[in-house]
Amino acid sequence: MRRLLRILLNTATVLSLVLCAATMAAWVRSYQVRDVGSWSMASPRLDLAVNTYRGGLFAGFYKSVGTQDNLDSPGTGGWYHTPTLSYTDSDGPQGTLFNRFGFALDYSRNSAYENRYLACPYWFILLLTSILPAARLAAWRRRRVRRLRVGAGLCQHCGYDCRATPDRCPECGRPTGDETSR
Ligand SMILES: [Zn+2]
Repeated sequence: MRRLLRILLNTATVLSLVLCAATMAAWVRSYQVRDVGSWSMASPRLDLAVNTYRGGLFAGFYKSVGTQDNLDSPGTGGWYHTPTLSYTDSDGPQGTLFNRFGFALDYSRNSAYENRYLACPYWFILLLTSILPAARLAAWRRRRVRRLRVGAGLCQHCGYDCRATPDRCPECGRPTGDETSR
């Protein structure tokens, strides 16, 4: 069970690192070119659009309501590039502090379609994807320091020289035994 957990944790860490690197690349790219991807589905009648602005990602969902149909024809879609657009040039909601950091959430509706809209800055995605690798690195460094201290005859908790008192640290009072496997 522990073994399985370890494998899952390692897989999640590697995946996080890959996403982290991809986000960095996409972040840089977003200042050079604007990527636009769109897909149209027949059932449910829905248009999806994902595109980039300088420093972030937009996602839009357009759902047909009522009898009119102003959406693209179903089955169409594709990927293309256009010149970059700053967040403030985009047609998303603007003005709040939430927006100024590059986030946006919007919902609008008229007789023809429902429009849902989401914007997320790359720095936020980078933050999310780097939490797990950073935590693992910190844990690994802690284990390494402990192992080095035990190997050198020092207290694994405070680093005090315990070669004369191998069982218990005279400085912090804790057992000096090798607990690096924890
Ligand atoms: Zn100690």
